[in-house]
Amino acid sequence: MRHDALNQLSRIFLIVLLVTVGSIVLLMARTVGFGVPDASGLLPQGVVRAAWNGQVALISGHAGNDSGAVCEDAAGNVLVTEASINAAVAEQAAGRLRRAGADVTILDEYDDRLQGLKADVLVSIHADSCIDVSGYKAAVHAYSLIPETSAQLLACIDQAYPAATGLPHHPDTVTHNMTEYHAFKRIDSQTPAAIIELGFMGGDQTLLVDNPELAAKGVADSILCFLESESAAGPATEVAP
Ligand SMILES: [Zn+2]
Repeated sequence: MRHDALNQLSRIFLIVLLVTVGSIVLLMARTVGFGVPDASGLLPQGVVRAAWNGQVALISGHAGNDSGAVCEDAAGNVLVTEASINAAVAEQAAGRLRRAGADVTILDEYDDRLQGLKADVLVSIHADSCIDVSGYKAAVHAYSLIPETSAQLLACIDQAYPAATGLPHHPDTVTHNMTEYHAFKRIDSQTPAAIIELGFMGGDQTLLVDNPELAAKGVADSILCFLESESAAGPATEVAP
């Protein structure tokens, strides 16, 4: 009898011990973070809740296809190519977004993965010609099946990009090449997408060539703004007709 009671007591002690150790481990996991955001509001440094595990696709304009616009000096020497500017900005924007917790893929201009692409957002990165004009511009699909979401993405670019770069909006040169951009027609119709012209390689060369990190911050901030607005709005309610 006495032996049974002892057994019972040690069993209870064991359970209490396991629960205590388990709680301490859980508490430590939350405090240290273990890289996982949780409901308590603790996030690893730099991580943005709305961006956590967000699927972000960036097109490095002209990559894998051609050099895009080419600026030459009077003697015909190549000063800079659009593709090199796009690649530098895409790479640095991807770095910023990854530090914010997003899952970023950089795609070529005509990447096979664009076909039916499902992502939280796609932004194609281009730069405009070598003329001596200043300003950026962005466009979404003229026939987007998610017009409200597309408008929100455009609004975020028009807010965050000029804030990061100081560039004015240059809307007069938005072309059909932008609003009917080939990638818009290839991706899944529910994937929010935009194309941005970072600036003119002529008038904005100081920014694009010497300070690509500012353009990259503008692109990354635009995307974070959009992901935050989407997570605040809750699940998408728009349905394709
Ligand atoms: Zn281009």
